[in-house]
Amino acid sequence: MTEFVIARAADVGLPVVGTDAVFPVRRVYCIGRNYAAHTVEMGGDPDREEPFFFQKNAENLDPSGVFPYPHQSGDVHHEVEMAVAMAAGGRGLAVEDALDCVFGYALCLDMTRRDVQAKLKKQSRPWEAAKAFEHSAPVGPIHTVAHCGHPARGRITLSVNGTIRQDGDLDQMIWKVPEIIAYLSETFELAGGDVILTGTPSGVGAVERGDLVEIAIAGLGSHRVQVR
Ligand code: MN
Repeated sequence: MTEFVIARAADVGLPVVGTDAVFPVRRVYCIGRNYAAHTVEMGGDPDREEPFFFQKNAENLDPSGVFPYPHQSGDVHHEVEMAVAMAAGGRGLAVEDALDCVFGYALCLDMTRRDVQAKLKKQSRPWEAAKAFEHSAPVGPIHTVAHCGHPARGRITLSVNGTIRQDGDLDQMIWKVPEIIAYLSETFELAGGDVILTGTPSGVGAVERGDLVEIAIAGLGSHRVQVR
């Protein structure tokens, strides 16, 4: 038994529908600009350019249903995304084999300090301060592949206080889930426990303290997050 010189941070475990056992999170990867209409609203070129990725921290995933409004920002945006939870990984995975590595899927939010991100982009600096802050990835319970299959189409929505803000379809993804996994595995060695956020449809916008955010994906139910 390894002895640690200071108290060890707790492991991050996410709830799984149908069991009391939790999913142990290793790394969190996010793809940028993966729906054409969102790419356009962020000022990008919707043509199929190479995908790019950034990371959040495992403990940024928060299943509590509460999002504490972060400090250092006055413009925090919602991005509804489907999360892929990996059961296995590897390097250089083939597109045809990629889905065999998936454990399940969940509803997720890629909360973003948009004002901070705009400044970092202008300075050509990395995005962690905009993306990887505490509680920045509210997440619903994981649905196993046995329960939901591999969702490739179906409505993905986000509402704030009952008003729809984002309304897209999973089939609008520029890079599909098997391609995202294969591409990511060229750069990083993936492993069971990794979670991949697959991008957001258009309609991103600001949340305020007191807002109730509800996200939904066909086949994965819905998940509510209260902004505090
Ligand atoms: Mn995103």
